[in-house]
Amino acid sequence: FLLSKTFSNLTVDELVNKVQVNMDEARFRHCQGVSITARKLAKLNNYDEDKAALAGFIHDYAKQVANEEFIRVIKDKSNGFDQDLLNWNRAIWHGIVGTYFIKRDLGITDSEILTAIRRHTTGDVEMTTLDKIVFVADYIEPGRSFSGVDEAREVTFANLDDGVGYELAHTLQFLANNRQKIYPKTLAAYNVWGIKKE
Ligand code: GDP
Ligand code: FE
Ligand code: FE
Ligand code: FE
Repeated sequence: FLLSKTFSNLTVDELVNKVQVNMDEARFRHCQGVSITARKLAKLNNYDEDKAALAGFIHDYAKQVANEEFIRVIKDKSNGFDQDLLNWNRAIWHGIVGTYFIKRDLGITDSEILTAIRRHTTGDVEMTTLDKIVFVADYIEPGRSFSGVDEAREVTFANLDDGVGYELAHTLQFLANNRQKIYPKTLAAYNVWGIKKE
């Protein structure tokens, strides 16, 4: 695992340390795995490898932030978050509201990176190459072991868009099976990327 750029004023060591102390060991290993997978997918899809590796590394920076903290940031109107977020939970918050903490603590201002993190849990109707890379790398990194992950890896390494579609279809299926509420963006993303193309 190697980062060569931070896209901020922090050195690589400083950034890695800030990420590490903000989460437990298992989550930190997941972030390293996503970073490695994102770098591979970037190479395969002609995208900036260092940028993908960094975005993958920090995507879950806010995964273990307390609920009260997320709620405080959403309610502070100066941060500009949609108040409807208050009707959701930390699964949805850690990416979207996570960008607040990533800007504040890691000094990342690159809008492509912040957008990819904002979209990493739900996907979106519009997805850039970096959005797709982080979205699927999160799903298939080496530490993931759910049934179907090997098929997800095959599909994704053969074609990035197919990987996005596979993940959205299976996530929607998983959420419905567990009778969970579906975030409108997850459904809208499925309707664009998840359906079979003619
Ligand atoms: P992680 O942060 O590495 O665990 O992965 P993600 O950020 O991709 O997903 C976090 C959680 O959000 C997972 O348990 C997903 O099943 C869940 N999730 C994704 N989309 C939705 C949605 O539309 N509604 C709900 N309720 N949960 C979702
Ligand atoms: Fe996440
Ligand atoms: Fe994901
Ligand atoms: Fe993740």
